[in-house]
Amino acid sequence: MNKQQPPVDGYCEQCGFNYDTGDLQGTVTLLIRQAADCSMALTKAAAGPDPNVVRLRPEPDVWSAIEYACHVRDVLEVQRQRIAQCLAEDRPVYAPMDRTGRVKQQKYEDQDPAEVAAALMRFAREFGAAARVLRPQELGKLGLYNYPVRAPRTLGWIIRHTAHEIQHHRHDIVEILAKVEPPIVPKPKPEPEPGVGVEEADEVEVSD
Ligand SMILES: [Zn+2]
Repeated sequence: MNKQQPPVDGYCEQCGFNYDTGDLQGTVTLLIRQAADCSMALTKAAAGPDPNVVRLRPEPDVWSAIEYACHVRDVLEVQRQRIAQCLAEDRPVYAPMDRTGRVKQQKYEDQDPAEVAAALMRFAREFGAAARVLRPQELGKLGLYNYPVRAPRTLGWIIRHTAHEIQHHRHDIVEILAKVEPPIVPKPKPEPEPGVGVEEADEVEVSD
């Protein structure tokens, strides 16, 4: 579904996210802002002239806006649960979220855009609340993470990686909607023929 697998460290050329900059609070603030953008882009498109655009895939193997938004919502929920698991367990091993399996199993394409947008924001705030209070030694705690390869990752990395996921998919959602949305052709301004306004004004005066 992805043109090119995004990086999991350093700088992402596709969306501009950088794993090496920003402190915890800044990263969480960025994540919430990007989630709000995903939510708004979906809501706006669904309220537009053709609400069905949110369910259109630009290409057969590229997700639609609603599918990406459902993915973002689920990522936020799963990652918040992983923060809790990391704090609770000695050597956390995270279960894979099955990102592709969920698309069909949970019927992403049939979900209601307003509900998805609201849940996405709720999970972003909950994730943010769980992440903001983490102390330095907690951020350094390791767990076994599956994506993109099975490797030990710190909790701090998980927070940054989640922020990257949201920023990256915000980029995807906006790009996809730009491809599938019918262009808005501005109506030509009804330019009154010269003199019409004047005549009307005259008539008003006459009828007085
Ligand atoms: Zn990216």
